[in-house]
Amino acid sequence: MITQVFLIVLVTLVSIISNGLFNTVSAGEKSKHNIYPITDFELMEDAGGQYSIDTIRSPGFTNQFKQYPHEVISLGITKSVYWIRFQLPPNDPQTMTASQLLQFKNPNIDKIDLFIPIADQNAASGLHYLTRAVGVSRPAASRDVLDNTWVFSIPDQYRQDQFLYLRLESSSALRLPVVLWRENSFITEAFLKNIGFGIFYGILLAMLFFNLFIFFVLRDKAYLFYVLYIGFMLLYQFQVHGYLRLWLDISYELYNAIFWVWLAAAFISSIYFTHHFLQVRSENTLWNKIRAALLVTALLQGILGVCGYNIWANQIAHGLGLAGPLVIMVLAVFRLRQGFRPARFYLLAWGVLSIGIVVWVLAAYIPDTFSAVNYLLVATACESILLSFALSDRFKTLRLKEAALTKNMQYYRDLSLTDELTGLYNKRYLTELLGREVDTALQDGRLLTLMVIDIDHFKTYNDSYGHWQGDQVLIRLGNVLLNELEKSQPAFRYGGEEFVVLLPNTNCDDAIRIADGIREKIQTEEFTLDPNVTVTVTASVGLAELTCDDNAEKLFQRADEALYKAKAAGRNQVACL
Ligand code: GH3
Ligand code: MG
Ligand code: MG
Repeated sequence: MITQVFLIVLVTLVSIISNGLFNTVSAGEKSKHNIYPITDFELMEDAGGQYSIDTIRSPGFTNQFKQYPHEVISLGITKSVYWIRFQLPPNDPQTMTASQLLQFKNPNIDKIDLFIPIADQNAASGLHYLTRAVGVSRPAASRDVLDNTWVFSIPDQYRQDQFLYLRLESSSALRLPVVLWRENSFITEAFLKNIGFGIFYGILLAMLFFNLFIFFVLRDKAYLFYVLYIGFMLLYQFQVHGYLRLWLDISYELYNAIFWVWLAAAFISSIYFTHHFLQVRSENTLWNKIRAALLVTALLQGILGVCGYNIWANQIAHGLGLAGPLVIMVLAVFRLRQGFRPARFYLLAWGVLSIGIVVWVLAAYIPDTFSAVNYLLVATACESILLSFALSDRFKTLRLKEAALTKNMQYYRDLSLTDELTGLYNKRYLTELLGREVDTALQDGRLLTLMVIDIDHFKTYNDSYGHWQGDQVLIRLGNVLLNELEKSQPAFRYGGEEFVVLLPNTNCDDAIRIADGIREKIQTEEFTLDPNVTVTVTASVGLAELTCDDNAEKLFQRADEALYKAKAAGRNQVACL
């Protein structure tokens, strides 16, 4: 119940925070806040990527630009280069003086070349083009503004009547929302955005360290694979949102390679995590085959990506991103139906992530969808928390199972040490305990007396009244012993009609007193054979007190001798040696 309430609060909080931070301004209010989404584009495909800005601007090419029918540039994964031209909205006279910033919101484009028309009296056409070349495949130093996306300042001499040209080339999905900002609005947005990212990276880090600590305590592999999964996912998210490129000025080859390593490693650790978490039997051949197929595909994706075959790697990654969570969810349902309860949270966690991934992958292909980047991030953060829940739920279930098992084991152990007729301990337990008790008593210099009880003329009793009646005597004698003795004085049925009692911290005199009590109690017990006939039995008791040169065998022998002495002296009496 508490968990459910906590979950609801969590989901609500996350949605409020993500809404608040990522969508600070609703669409209708955008222009009021000096945010101008650019939605009017003309487009030209350059399949071979051979044209330059001058070629593109030449009269022969002007008519080849076609109106793009969607509001957000979204061209999927393509090998082609695309040329795009657009104009900025006319300058608002009220804010004329404020600087303008042009933002390209996808941090993962390989190459973005922006050509800004600038008034130039010296040029024959009266203008020249200011060139900006950015993208993940180019050094971080070429940025105008230090942001995880690509942001350019529009100079004052910008020619409003002319087109801006954009050359796009990327192995990742070409989806590129374009926004024009007033500088102050951009600063506010960037500030909130970075807080948002900080919170989500913070959640992932917190979950990572928390579960890493638990792994060190419990040494349960499921925690280790969770930590690896979250760790690689965090690195992947950090890179996919453009933050890593801000601080890591390494060659594109290396930058690209590590990206695919994080993704493949996150995928592989999620499969191992699932395997350990759901405790799928190793002989489940179907799962073994599916697991092998997923692992090989993830490896292939990693190798292709590291070798620079980004388009292939991307296609596989999208396929895996959709298929992987689905397989995991089917497996979780399968385990849930087998009665493995922790699969509930596991299912929920991957369900949440799947929605994020589906939105993310679809957004790469379908134009005009809302910004999917944040959904994947929120989904990942929620998933990491839910998986952490799932882990503790699983721990609880396993602990309960273990407790039940221990209880069962105790029950069977007790059963194996108990005499079924009398409920006293049996000879097996006496053998186990006597040596131990003798040793510790000798070591600690403590007293110990052994008592052997044998019913008198029991053969005759059996012969006269039958074995069933004989058994009633044994049962009654068992009860007498349980009632007369303390917990620290264990009683055993040694065999037949012979009983043994261990009397720790007791010398012979005290033992005689206890034995006499038992002997007297036995002889007062009445057995009704039929309504008119009542009989009694007697027993003889032999006692032996432990001496320092004793061992279990000698002690037992002396108690037996004492019993023989009691029998010889006329029975129904106690003797001590
Ligand atoms: P003593 O006074 O010398 O002990 O004479 P006794 O007849 O009791 O001699 P002993 O101890 O040798 O006899 C053992 C008898 O106990 C033999 C058997 O009939 C009886 N007996 C042994 N085990 C069981 C049992 O489980 N149930 C019943 N009813 N009788 C048993
Ligand atoms: Mg006997
Ligand atoms: Mg006997």
